[in-house]
Parts: sequence; C-alpha cells; structure tokens
Amino acid sequence: MSFDLVLFGGTGDLAWRKLMPALFQAFRHGSLPPGGRIIGVARDELDDQAYRALIKSRFDRVDLDKRPSQEEFARFAELLHFIRLDVTKPADYARLAELLQARQADTVVMYVATAPGLFTAVCEQIAAAGLNGPQTRVVLEKPLGHDLASNRAINDTVRRVLSEKQVFRIDHYLGKPAVQNLFALRFGNSLFEPLWRRETIANIQITIAEDLGVEKRGAYYDHIGALRDMVQNHALQLLCAIGMEPPINAHADAIRDEKLKVLRALKPWTVETLQQHVVRGQYTAGNLGGVAVPGYRDEPGVPANSQTETFVALRAEIANWRWAGVPFYIRTGKRLAERDARIVVNFRPTPHAIFSTPPGAANRLVINLQPKDGLELHLLAQADQRGRSGMAPLAPVQLDLDFDKRFGSERVGAYERLLLDVIAGRLNLFVRSDEQEEAWRWVEPILDHWRHSTHEPRPYAAGTWGPSASSAMIARDGYCWSEEC
Ligand code: NAP
Repeated sequence: MSFDLVLFGGTGDLAWRKLMPALFQAFRHGSLPPGGRIIGVARDELDDQAYRALIKSRFDRVDLDKRPSQEEFARFAELLHFIRLDVTKPADYARLAELLQARQADTVVMYVATAPGLFTAVCEQIAAAGLNGPQTRVVLEKPLGHDLASNRAINDTVRRVLSEKQVFRIDHYLGKPAVQNLFALRFGNSLFEPLWRRETIANIQITIAEDLGVEKRGAYYDHIGALRDMVQNHALQLLCAIGMEPPINAHADAIRDEKLKVLRALKPWTVETLQQHVVRGQYTAGNLGGVAVPGYRDEPGVPANSQTETFVALRAEIANWRWAGVPFYIRTGKRLAERDARIVVNFRPTPHAIFSTPPGAANRLVINLQPKDGLELHLLAQADQRGRSGMAPLAPVQLDLDFDKRFGSERVGAYERLLLDVIAGRLNLFVRSDEQEEAWRWVEPILDHWRHSTHEPRPYAAGTWGPSASSAMIARDGYCWSEEC
C-alpha cells in the first residue's frame, strides 16, 4: 500500500520534535509501509535537499538512542520532500495537487500541524484543489477551537468537505501504550469488570502533573490555560476510558459511542458545584529539584496581571447506574512537584474489619501513564508474624507490573502509534466530533464562571501539588489525594 503523508507545518516545532522522530522510528522498525513519501509543507524557500538537511540537523536534538545513524538517515531521507506553500493562498495548492496526482498513492494523509487558526483554511483549500477524495485522511492537531462555538464552527467546515471517517482528531494521550493497556485491562480481562462500579469503588483520581512551567510558550499558553490544554481533551478522554461501558466490539465507532455516553452522563454544573468542586490555581515562584524557578506572571510573554490558570482540580460525577455517587477527581497543572500522570482507583474498605489495619487502608489500583508505564495493585497482607502471638496487623503491600521492564522500553511511542493508525485508516484512537463537542459543552460553564469571577486564581508555589484548596475540595468528601494518604 503506497502512501503520501503531507505535513502542513513541516518545519514547525511539532514536526521536528514529535512527528519526524516518530516517523523515523516507524521506518527503523520496518512498520512504515514501503513506497511512502513524506512531504513537508511550509512557506520557507526550501527544496528537497535543503529540507532533508534541516530535518537531519534537528535530529541532533533527539535522544541518542532515537537518533538515526548516517546510513539510516540517508535511507530515511529518500522519503522526504518539500513544497513551499502558503496555506492561505489557494493558488499555491496547484503545486501540491500536481505532486500528489503524479503518482496517485493509495492513501494520502494530510497532517495539519499549523496554527489552529489555519485548520479550516487547509481543509477548504484541499477540497477546492480536488484533494479530498476517498483516499485522503486529514489529521487535525489540538486545540480544535477554544470553546464550544469555535469547535463547532471548525467541525462544521470540516464536515462540508470531508466525511467523518476521513478526519483523525489527535489526542496523543490515546496513543500512549499505558492508555491502550487500560482498555486491555478493562475489556481483555474478566477480573476487574465485576468490581468496576459504585458498590466497590470509593473514588477515582486522574492526575496529569507536569514539573515544567510554560517554558518559552508563555504568550501562547496565556490564551489557553490548563482547562483547555489538558482537561477538555486528555483528562476527559482518560475519564471516558475508565468510566465507559464495555463496547460491543473493538471497532472505532463502538468505542467512541461508549465514550460519548460517558461525556453525556457527566453531571451538569450548578452555581454551587462550580464554586465548590472546581479549583483554579496559578504558580508563583518556588523551587524544583533544588533550583529556584520564577512564578507564572514572571515568565516571558505572560502579562503581569494574568488570570490564566496553570492548575485545575475538579470533582466530576458520571450520572448513571454504574457510577452514581462516585467522585471522579481530575487534577492537572504545571510546575507541580513532579512529572507524573496516573489514574488511581480507590476501592472501598472491607465492610467489616476482623484485622487490625492502618487507618483508611483499602485496596487501590494505580495505572501509571508517565513517566512510569504500568500497574500497581495495592493490597493488605500480614507482613511479619515473627515474635507475635495471634493475628499480626495488616500492612500495605503491592503487586507491581512495569510494562517497560516486562515488554521492553522500545515499544511504539504515542505519535508513532497514531501515525501508523492514520496510514492504516484505523480510527479507534482518534476523537469523533460529537465527543469533542460534548467535552466542550461540559467544560464551558467553568470557563464562563471564571470569566465572571472576581476571585483571582489561587496561588501555589512551584514545586508543590497545587493550592491547598485542591486538598480541601477532596477532603470535604472524606478523601485525600493519593500522595497524601
Ligand atoms: P510552530 O512551531 O509555530 O510551527 C508552525 C508551522 O506552520 C511552521 O512549519 C510554519 O512554517 C508553518 N506555517 C505557519 N503559517 C503558515 C502558512 N500560512 N502556510 C504554510 N505554513 C505555515 O507550531 P507547532 O508548535 O509546531 O504547532 C503546530 C500545531 O500543533 C498547532 O496547532 C499546535 O497547537 C499543535 N500542537 C503542538 C504541540 C507541540 O509540542 N509543539 C503539541 C500539541 C499540539 P512557516 O512559518 O515557515 O510557513
């Protein structure tokens, strides 16, 4: 199967940091179908040779084990081509059409890795140039809009020129091996399904913590904030994976139908829950790993009076028979104590205690997403009975499954997985427009509430786990974040 992958934004940050390394890994492992072309597109005056040299120079910044040797790059470079094209200029698409039509590949992937404001222009122009035939697949990066209305406007435009099955909306979290293993854990094993419900689960915690600040992207981030950047997409997709019903099969729409039901079942916000169940924070100067770091408002490009949140914690509930009453806590932020993405499923304690146990002890399943990738099952056991008479008190122990050690750390990375899926036409790990709209519909009242709020985001020192209000929110339910208890 031959393919052409057109990379709009082929000289940008995403292209050289994520997409080219992922394509190279796929090429190195022999997973890219033979006979493909990767066509970089941008406004620069480059020819194929100059583009290859540019990409080669960028590989110098990639981890050593992911870097091609001279000989490997020479072979990979044969796939690379470049077209100078301004995506806003219809006439420029003629050159692209000529290049693509010259060989009629079985699959044409248009990966739109330009500024979000250009997404619709690209879709409209590829259609105007007759490049939206059934062999074409379009990949759209996040963010797809900044609220429900703008998301709908993009999806409406895209729908006019492409069918839904041609559109691959990326949420790279879905490409992570750990997230795929979450589906495997839930729907490939019978062990957990009977326990996966309100009767046995006390609460679920989804944490996506970054230790980095906004780096050089302060001006960009200040228009986005943590809710749009992480909650509306990644965190809600993880919540869907945890909360969805078993799909009838592994086809894309069966999975996406079930995720959509979860989003539709999220309890709507009220004035009271917006005040009590959402915490908005912003980092101040602090210390990370012994290094002093500036506060958000002192980062380059960030206004001194910025109200943008760099931290969100919230309490969601899925209003259906399986989950009614079970809190799903979501927490994400920048400049937190460590880089850590995990889902913690806290089971209820035994209904009647015959052993002496540490206070609050109960079973816990931890799904580690990054930097670790694996599962921990926390149990209680009699650790040491020496010198004791009668029953020893129970102590926590854990079963630890490290997927990197078990399956090797050379597994397919998120972007590699997703790129291979686009080329193969597999939509399972991509987000459908109705899912995306439903997620926006749910987060929008939070954005409105903040817009009209007279309260500033709550400050938290860089290097901590966020504002104390986040711990207070969860404590009101009688629980604590997993690192606190
Ligand atoms: P970037 O570094 O600013 O790169 C933008 C690319 O688009 C450049 O190649 C630029 O080249 C090209 N471009 C800009 N205007 C153009 C035009 N009118 N016609 C043709 N090409 C044009 O941006 P990025 O960080 O790679 O981000 C790209 C997209 O991915 C954005 O939607 C972003 O939100 C999303 N994203 C990025 C990351 C990341 O880690 N960077 C992560 C997730 C999502 P010229 O200016 O030379 O034309």
